[in-house]
Amino acid sequence: MNNLSSVVTKLTGKSVFNTEYYSANSFFNIYIKYFNSIVNGFNSNPTSLNKHIKRNFNFGYFEDLSFGGKAFINEETDFVYLNCGTIVYIHDLFLKLLANPTVFPEIGTPSINDYIIHKEPEINNGENQIIFHNGPSDSLRQDLALFLSHLALTYVTLHELGHHYNGHMLYLNTVLNENSLDMDNNSSTLNPLDYQTLEMDADAFAATTSINFIFFNLPEYQKNLFPPSLIQIIKESDILKYWIFSIHSLFCFLNKNNFNAENFADKKYLPLRIRQFLNFDIAYTTLASIIGDNLPRKDYEFLLQNTVVYTEEKFNQTFEKNMDELDLLSSTSTTVLNHVTKINDHWKNSIKPKLEKFSRATLAE
Ligand SMILES: [Zn+2]
Repeated sequence: MNNLSSVVTKLTGKSVFNTEYYSANSFFNIYIKYFNSIVNGFNSNPTSLNKHIKRNFNFGYFEDLSFGGKAFINEETDFVYLNCGTIVYIHDLFLKLLANPTVFPEIGTPSINDYIIHKEPEINNGENQIIFHNGPSDSLRQDLALFLSHLALTYVTLHELGHHYNGHMLYLNTVLNENSLDMDNNSSTLNPLDYQTLEMDADAFAATTSINFIFFNLPEYQKNLFPPSLIQIIKESDILKYWIFSIHSLFCFLNKNNFNAENFADKKYLPLRIRQFLNFDIAYTTLASIIGDNLPRKDYEFLLQNTVVYTEEKFNQTFEKNMDELDLLSSTSTTVLNHVTKINDHWKNSIKPKLEKFSRATLAE
């Protein structure tokens, strides 16, 4: 462990967060087990992978209380490390949302008393756990917050895994001698168009595999992760609604910097609304391939639009933010949509052919 930590620090320049001080039931340790089980699932399921490049996997955390994560490689090993703040702030986000009595009021007994002044969570070694100061008092609502956090964390980690399984890291390492991709690294020599295209592809991987994992391939471990009371309240027909709510809340949370129409093409990521549109679009392709006619496209779009509007309304209400209409309008402008077409073309004509020999998963069309 210590050897591995020093390798990670040498590769990334960041300190490793030691989870040995935390109880086995802490979120930190639960998610180490869970994400390892996801990777074992990928590696033992020959249909999910079309090439058998065998690599080791290591998941861990950086000692960093901000939101972030990184995919990186070293010789035979793929690494995904999240900042420990990612675990803290995703749980805090959904606890605060469920403390709002008007969010999913049909679940449990919402209380106006839960909805008090927001206070930031803390990591407390003595308690072996994260201390949250906000959240619903009702246990079913707490369980739902846990489930929504789980969906969002799964998406975040699958995005990082997408950088490995779709061959981004091996390609970058071979061609540019770069060994990492992360949420806030501006030192990459990749040009913005290449970068946005890889990020779009990692999002697509996360959206399609999380649909597969969460709805249709629920690993035993994941079933054991949640209390039976939660399994009872979550109707199968509502899982898709909760997934959309979870992922869109996460994107609202990350959308701190307002969209800037002048320079979006030079940024690493596409505007969040566009990323979401692409995510939800490709998610339907996966859903349809599994459940077919049971969910017609128009029903999915109806659910999607309602849930996205609901999520933004509740997010803004809970965190006392105003709807930014300029952000909404400009990020879906013709200029931006044309740019998305350019990225799609860049994917087909330039990036996808380069990734083929490094990828372990079937690349998107
Ligand atoms: Zn990424």
